[in-house]
Amino acid sequence: MRRLSCRNVIFEFSAKNKPAYSVDLGERIVVETRDAFDSQIKSTRKTFEDVDMERVNPATGPIEVRGLARGETLSVSIEKIKCASKGLIMCSPDLGNVGSLVRKSRTKLVDIAGGKVRLDKDLLIDANPHVGVIGVSPRSGEFPTYYPGDFGGNMDTVDVCERSRLYLPTYVDGGMVAVGDVHAAMGDGEVCGTGVEVAAEVTVVLDRSDDLEVKRPMIETPTRWIAFAAVKTLDEAARTVTEDMVRFIASKRGVDFEEAYMLASVGANLGISQVADPLMAAKMSISKRYL
Ligand code: CA
Repeated sequence: MRRLSCRNVIFEFSAKNKPAYSVDLGERIVVETRDAFDSQIKSTRKTFEDVDMERVNPATGPIEVRGLARGETLSVSIEKIKCASKGLIMCSPDLGNVGSLVRKSRTKLVDIAGGKVRLDKDLLIDANPHVGVIGVSPRSGEFPTYYPGDFGGNMDTVDVCERSRLYLPTYVDGGMVAVGDVHAAMGDGEVCGTGVEVAAEVTVVLDRSDDLEVKRPMIETPTRWIAFAAVKTLDEAARTVTEDMVRFIASKRGVDFEEAYMLASVGANLGISQVADPLMAAKMSISKRYL
């Protein structure tokens, strides 16, 4: 299996990005990823104020998928996420949902082992490894890798995990995929602004999806479909994922908008991906049993 080193990273998703790697459609690869702070934080004495923001969210790539044409849908099957054994969490007055209440920045270095993260001497939390940053070159413009958007990017969505498949629209030939910012654990919302940030190795298969067209990221787990949107406000994000999910249900079930809307209301779950990035991200999921 080919291994793509994290020596080549981007800090910006841009239509101008040139490939660092080329892979074939359907090829299984291991992508090495750096942690979200690019190893800048190695001690609890360093806090968010010490972070060079130019080096946040290094994403390994760009990876050109040979044979994938612009406008086609990219599917990314996430087969395995192997996290490093040490991770970090930070809070700061400048970060997260209620950062203004934080009196003093703090950094926590944590051990990760056996599917658990040791948060404190007497507290182990369950790991739920997932990929924070995964995206393609956008249609136009440059977006730092801490931005989410229709092109993916800093999605910070726990469902982008092992055994999930992420669908992304593409805007340039080859897609130009980049992957980084793995979290060993995070709760929906990522309220303090970080998950358990770790370096990792992510095994993926990049392929073309012939049967699903997407305008924005869409996630398929073994049991559920999940719509995702990142925009300026949570209200707007909630509306966007609801519309996307209703249209998805209508097309899958062959019913009209009204019928699908009612099913979404009683059978689908609206939720929050994250409120910590420059744009707010919502998601809406439905069991495959209802489709
Ligand atoms: Ca992130």
